[in-house]
Amino acid sequence: MLRRWWFMERLRPAVPVQRPGELSKEQQLVLDEWTTARERLDRLVSARVTAVGDVLRTAELPLRTNRLADNSGADSQAEGDCAWAFDAFQAAGKLLDEASDLPDLAAAAVLADRALERFAAVHARAAGQPVPKAARRCFYNPLHTAAEDTHSPVRKQHRQKARRRTGPREAAADRRPACPSCRRAILAGQTPDVLPALVPVKLSRLRTARVLVPYYSVPQQWSLWSVCACGAYGDEWPSLVLRGEHRRRAAAARKV
Ligand SMILES: [Zn+2]
Repeated sequence: MLRRWWFMERLRPAVPVQRPGELSKEQQLVLDEWTTARERLDRLVSARVTAVGDVLRTAELPLRTNRLADNSGADSQAEGDCAWAFDAFQAAGKLLDEASDLPDLAAAAVLADRALERFAAVHARAAGQPVPKAARRCFYNPLHTAAEDTHSPVRKQHRQKARRRTGPREAAADRRPACPSCRRAILAGQTPDVLPALVPVKLSRLRTARVLVPYYSVPQQWSLWSVCACGAYGDEWPSLVLRGEHRRRAAAARKV
C-alpha cells in the first residue's frame, strides 16, 4: 500500500507559497492518494470485521463460561478472556465507524482478529485442547501476513549465522517482528511496505500541510496506534477505544 508515500519527504521543503485554504498540487496528490488508500482499506476491514462478527454471533460460549460450575481460576480466566474478546470486537466496530486515519482502520482489523483468537483460545482450553498460538503481526504493517518467528531455535541459529554474514541489516531486520516481505526488503537495504498515517506539519503561522509518515512515527498524543502496532501488543486498547481515547487524540492532531 502506498509504496510511493515517502516521496512527500522530498517534496516537503519545496512546498510553494499558497494562500490559506488553497491546496498546493503536492498536497492534492497526497490527499488523493490517502483517500484512495482509505477507501480500499475501509472495504477490506469492513469485510473482515463483518466476518469475525458472524463467527462470534454463531459460536456458542463454552458451557463453563456461560454458567460457572465452580469458582476455579480457569473459569475466571475464561470469563475475562470472553469479556475482552467482546470488548475488542465492539472496539473494532467503533473504530470502523469513527476512523480518522488509516491506522484506525488497521487497528479495527487487528482488534477483530484478536477477538477471534482470544475466543478460540477459550474454546480450546474448555475442550482440553492445546491453545492456538496468537499471530505475531508485522510491525511495519500489522495488516500483513504473520511475522516470522525469529525466536524459534531454527530461526535463531539461522540468524546467528546470517548476522555474522550481513551484520547491521540482519540486526535491523530482527529489531521488530516483520513479515517475510518486509524482512526481505530490510535485508536488501530497501524500505519495507509501511502502513502510512496522515499527519499535520506546520509550515508557517497560517499554513499547515498534511504529510504521510510511517504510522509508528506519529506522536503518541495524536494516536493510540504508534506504540502497539495498531493494537497488536497489549490488552488495554479495547477499553481505551470504548472510552473514546482514539477520538480525543485525533482531535489533538487537528488542532495543529
Ligand atoms: Zn510486513
